Amino acid sequence: MSEPLNQAMKDEKREQQFTQAAYDLLDGRHHGAIHVPIYQNSLFAFESYEQFEEAGRELLSHHVYSRGNNPTVQHLERKLADLEQAESAKCFASGMAAITSAILSVVEEGDHIICVRQAYGPTREFLGSYLARFHVETTFIDGSSIDHWQDAVQPNTKVFYLESPTSMLFQQQDLRQCAELARSIGAISIIDNTWATPCFQNPLAFGIDLVVHSLTKYIGGHSDCIGGAVLGSKLLMNRIGYTEYMLLGGIMAPQTAALISKGLRTLPLRMQRHEESGLIVAEHLSKQGYVARMNHPGLPSHPQYELGQRQLSGSSSLFSFISYEPVAKLKEWANQLRFFKIGVSWGGFESLITINSLETDKDDRKPSVVRLYVGLENPKDLIADLDRAWGEV
Ligand SMILES: *Cc1c(COP(=O)(O)O)cnc(C)c1O
Repeated sequence: MSEPLNQAMKDEKREQQFTQAAYDLLDGRHHGAIHVPIYQNSLFAFESYEQFEEAGRELLSHHVYSRGNNPTVQHLERKLADLEQAESAKCFASGMAAITSAILSVVEEGDHIICVRQAYGPTREFLGSYLARFHVETTFIDGSSIDHWQDAVQPNTKVFYLESPTSMLFQQQDLRQCAELARSIGAISIIDNTWATPCFQNPLAFGIDLVVHSLTKYIGGHSDCIGGAVLGSKLLMNRIGYTEYMLLGGIMAPQTAALISKGLRTLPLRMQRHEESGLIVAEHLSKQGYVARMNHPGLPSHPQYELGQRQLSGSSSLFSFISYEPVAKLKEWANQLRFFKIGVSWGGFESLITINSLETDKDDRKPSVVRLYVGLENPKDLIADLDRAWGEV
C-alpha cells in the first residue's frame, strides 16, 4: 500500500528509511546502474570537520563543490583521459571554454603565441583580437612546414597552437617536429584534436603538451549538447584546474557530462562508419567536374597524405572541396539536397553542408570551399542525393 509522501514523512521511522535510501545512492556501485548517474548537486557534505578540511586542501581530487569536481563530470574526464592516453583531463562548458582556458593557463602579458592561420575562427579571434588587449601577441602562419614555425619564433614565444588537420581546408602540421621545437625553446604546444577524435590521433604520444577537444562534435555525437575538454600531464592540468577552471568557472554541467559519456560509448563504432562513408562519398565527388580540388586527409591525392599516414590512424568524415562554380549555383545545389542539411557544426547523425568563400586563394577566379560532413546515413543514399540535386541546378 502506498501512502502520500507528506503523510509518510510525518512518521519518524519512515523518514529514516527515506534518508537511508538517499544515502544508498552514494555507494560506489551506484546500485549497479549500467550508465553513470547524474549527480545534479552543487555541494558534498562531510561526516567530520577533519575530513572536510582535508578535502578542502585538494578540491580537485575530492568532492567538495561542483565548480571543481563533480562525480558525473569526473567519470567523463577519466574516460577521456584513458582514450587520449593522458594523465589528466578537465571538462568545460564548451570547446571554446576549453581552448581559451588552456591558452590562458600558459601566457602572461608580453608573451607571444604562434598559431596556424587556418585554425578554428573563434580561436583565431580570441588570439588575434581578445588576447591582444592584454598585450599577448600572436603570429599566424601556414604551419605545414616546420620552417614556418622556426621563422616565427621570438624570444618571448610561449605557445605553439596547432589544429591538425584544420577543419576547413584540412591542412596538417607535423606533430612530432612542432612538439620538439616548442620544447626546445621552452614553449607549450597545444593542439585542437577535434577532427580526428582520440580514435584516430593521440597527439600526446608525439610529445604535444596539451590536447583540446570540442566534445560537441563527434565525441558527444548526437547534436544534443555543447562541451569541451583539455587533456595533458597532471602538472599542467592541475594548473588549469585550480586557476582557469575554478576561477573563470566555465565548467561542464553534470547533465551534459552524462549525455557525452553516453555518446562516448559508441564513439569507436561511429568513427569506423564515418571513416568508411566519408571516403566513399569523397572518392565519388573527386570524379565530378564541379570539384576542382578535394581536401580529404584520408585520400592519397591529399598533398600531406604521407604525413597523415604517420600521425593519423584513420580519417573522420568532415572534408571539403574547392569549386569554381558560381556560388549561387552551389547554394541552389545545397537547397535541393534532402539528406545533407544546411548547418554549422558536425559529429551527429545527419550529414551537413556549408559553402564558404576562400579568402587565401590568390586565383582571380572566385573559388568556394564546400564543406561536407558525412553522417551515419547510408553512403549510397548520400551519393544519390548529391548527384540528383546537382542534376536539378
Ligand atoms: C566546434 C569547434 C570548436 C569549438 O567548440 P564549441 O564546443 O563550439 O565551443 C573548436 N575547434 C574546432 C575544430 C571545432 O570544430
